[in-house]
Formats: sequence, structure tokens, C-alpha cells
Amino acid sequence: MSKVKIVVAGPRGRMGSEALRMIEKHDDLELVACLDMENDGKKVKDIAGLPNLDARMYTNIDQCFSEAQADVLIDLTTPEVGFLHTKTAISYGVRPVVGTTGFTSDQLEELTDLAEEKGIGVIIAPNFAIGAVLMMEFSKWAAKYFPDVEIIEKHHDQKLDAPSGTAVKTAELIKQERESKQQGHPNEKETIPGARGANIDGMHIHSVRLPGLVAHQEVIFGGPGENLTIKHDSFHRESFMSGIKLSIDHVMKLDVLVYGLENLLE
Ligand code: NAP
Repeated sequence: MSKVKIVVAGPRGRMGSEALRMIEKHDDLELVACLDMENDGKKVKDIAGLPNLDARMYTNIDQCFSEAQADVLIDLTTPEVGFLHTKTAISYGVRPVVGTTGFTSDQLEELTDLAEEKGIGVIIAPNFAIGAVLMMEFSKWAAKYFPDVEIIEKHHDQKLDAPSGTAVKTAELIKQERESKQQGHPNEKETIPGARGANIDGMHIHSVRLPGLVAHQEVIFGGPGENLTIKHDSFHRESFMSGIKLSIDHVMKLDVLVYGLENLLE
């Protein structure tokens, strides 16, 4: 059995280090290199807290892709860096599986075009937890019957982007199902700016950032005399790893960019 050769970008991060542990557990995956801002030339096993793996750390992405014969890049970094990594990987024929959130719609369009030109699979998913994907799909379904909806997303306080990619994606899915609608009273006024949160197509999104949280979201639908709440909690970053593994398996067979794990589920 030939193994899928993987580069992980952001290996010392909360998600990246969890991805290394996931790769270590699967016989069909092999970590061939990591992209890190520090530790150039060291081995993964030399870094305290990381698994006992021989793969080399690189700070230079061109050197990394030229030397490591990689099939797949897993990117778990920051929005600006993740975008550059993804573009560079495509140019080297390395298939990106991107968990990094915060890409703009223009960036997603550019990556879609690049993937198509190169005929290479790319998967970008704002949430790799299967339960979160189901939450988004159930929300899309509920929006047919409940067009009034607000989203509360809660994350740990080290998260860089707000609202979360999952909240934006949920709003986009709901938008496909309902007539555009500005919610709340037409004369509503914020006495403190931001009180009503972000606004996507009239839906309001509220972002909570606190220590102790991982990734949580409630989608609250309101109708006459009733509310429906669809809620998902990721209590540990392990919850994202089955979706990353599924994406690695799929990306090897794709020749276009797929945005969202829901497009891979039966
Ligand atoms: P984190 O702990 O801050 O890790 C990010 C890592 O990226 C850090 O180790 C950082 O290095 C590294 N990094 C930054 N610039 C780099 C560069 N130029 N080259 C290589 N590495 C670089 O963040 P996290 O919680 O793991 O989250 C990472 C990303 O995944 C975020 O965008 C987050 O929103 C996203 N996320 C996605 C999902 C999903 O299911 N799709 C779930 C959770 C999180 P330093 O430590 O040196 O700064």
C-alpha cells in the first residue's frame, strides 16, 4: 500500500499538533515535512511536545516542496499565511487540505481558478467536525420553515478571525434557502456600536471569545410562539481530525476545489 505523503503547516499550533498525532495513528499516511516559522532543519521529534516523527521542519516553502515529495499539504496556520501556502502548494502540484479559516470570498475564487487551471484537488473546510457539518445542514433545512435566525458562535480567546468561518458558512447556506430579509425592527438603533453583531443578508452573528472554550455554535430560529435551537460543541480538537482524514482520502481523487466538508459526505 502506498502511503499518502503529507506536509503539515503550523505543526506547533493547537490544530497542527493534533494533526501530527492523527497522521501518526494512520498506517496509510506519512508525514514527510512540516512548515514552521522556527526550527528550520530540526526533526519533528526534536521539538518538545510533538510526536516521535522523523520528518524535517522547513521555514522556506519552496525548499520544502522542492525537497519533500509531498502529495498533500495540511494547512492549519493563519489566514494570510494559509492563503500563500495554499497557492504555492497548488503551483507545486501538492494537494491542499485547508483548515485555516478567514479566507475572503475573493481569495476563495482565486484558489478555485488556480485549482481548475492546474487540474488539482483542493479541500477548504471552515469546520472539519462531522457534527458541525450536520449542524449546518440541519440549519439550512430549518431555514425553509423559519426565515428568522440569529447565530451565536463561541470560541477560545486566541482565535484571530471573527465571525468564525463556520458561522459565515452557516449564514451562506441559510441564505440559499430563504428570501433576503433584514431582521429586527426597521427602526432599530445600536446605542453601542456592534451590539447587534455582524450582519450577513440581514442575519445577525454574535461572536463570543473566552478562555476554556474550544469551538461552539448555536443557530437560533424564531417563529410565532416557538424557537428552535440547533447547537454543536467541539470539546476537543480531536473532533476535527476525522474530517481531515476524510478530506485527505478525497483530495487525492479530486481535480477541482471543494469548499465545505458537507460536499464530501454521502
Ligand atoms: P494556533 O494554535 O495559533 O496555531 C497556528 C500555528 O500556525 C502556530 O503554531 C503558528 O506558529 C503557525 N504559523 C503562523 N505563521 C506561520 C508560517 N508562516 N509558517 C508556518 N507556521 C506558521 O491556531 P489553531 O487553533 O491551531 O488554529 C489554526 C487555524 O485553524 C486557525 O485559522 C483556526 O481558525 C483554524 N481552525 C480550523 C478548524 C476547522 O475545523 N477547519 C478548527 C479549529 C481551528 P507560532 O506558534 O510560531 O505563532
